[in-house]
Amino acid sequence: MPELQPDSKAAALFRDALVWDDHAGFEFSPGLDLDRLWRWKEAGVDYLSINAGYDVMPWSYSIAALAAYRHFIAAHSERYVLAARAGDVRRAKAEGKLALAFDMEGMCCLNEDPAMVQFYYDCGVRQMNFAYNLNNAAGGGCHDVDIGLTDFGRAVVGEMNRVGMLVDCSHNSYSTTMQAMELSTAPVIFSHSNARALCDHERNILDDQIKACAATGGVVGINGIHWFLDQENPGIEAMVRHVDYMAGLIGPAHLGIGLDYVFDDDSLLTTHKVKAEFWPKRQYGKRLGRGYLPPEILLELAERLLAWGYGEDDLRGILGLNFLRVAEAVWK
Ligand SMILES: [Zn+2]
Repeated sequence: MPELQPDSKAAALFRDALVWDDHAGFEFSPGLDLDRLWRWKEAGVDYLSINAGYDVMPWSYSIAALAAYRHFIAAHSERYVLAARAGDVRRAKAEGKLALAFDMEGMCCLNEDPAMVQFYYDCGVRQMNFAYNLNNAAGGGCHDVDIGLTDFGRAVVGEMNRVGMLVDCSHNSYSTTMQAMELSTAPVIFSHSNARALCDHERNILDDQIKACAATGGVVGINGIHWFLDQENPGIEAMVRHVDYMAGLIGPAHLGIGLDYVFDDDSLLTTHKVKAEFWPKRQYGKRLGRGYLPPEILLELAERLLAWGYGEDDLRGILGLNFLRVAEAVWK
């Protein structure tokens, strides 16, 4: 990675910008050193959404993760802020702290009860997608038979709109995403999804889905996972290409960052073996894992986008203000 001059235009803009990473995908485990989250702040990130569970695990795991994260944040208020509202993110930035909230990947954690949405919201969960790769009681996953939203999934969308939780469509089937975007009365996001037109993987999304997301007033977060960037050359160049492709489709005001960085993927690799059905071989082959762009690349991403001709306002939007705008509109 080339060293940036600390007084370069990109570095000055990046330091000043509000930087939002809409998803980190590491797995919770008891005893995990959560102060490793500070790494994001040191890389310039002001807000991070942490995965607190997914359909792969029993939902008691999510309760344990939320309890541990909340306890840690409360005990380390000199560094971390639990973000309930968008204003908390601005305050964290002003105070040099890292704002955190949680996300869920898949609705098995709802135990087939829409009333659980409010419970998770009260625990700090600010976005949730329907199904993690495989179909469940709410709707379709991206690696399964393409089904739409179930009646339960539709009821959950209504409840998410009511309580102010963001409807997230990453990891879901085409029909489920299109129906959710049609149904939701609030902006919908893809927290961490790249363009299928550039990288033909089922986890990536089609132009229709990208356009429908923008039409809700939502934002697509580009991730840094090698599998979904470019299976031959998955570096920062590929990430810039995904940003630029989507900007050409829907404009830069509907783009953001959801890196999905995993700082310690040992537990994840074990899960991949034990629960292999969630990551089908036809899509992931044998080279699963060990492929994530880290938060430290975000400064270079800003530099490259400036060099590609992105204006300062567009860049600030992509780095964080677009997701902040959606949170301001949706979180209650
Ligand atoms: Zn994910």
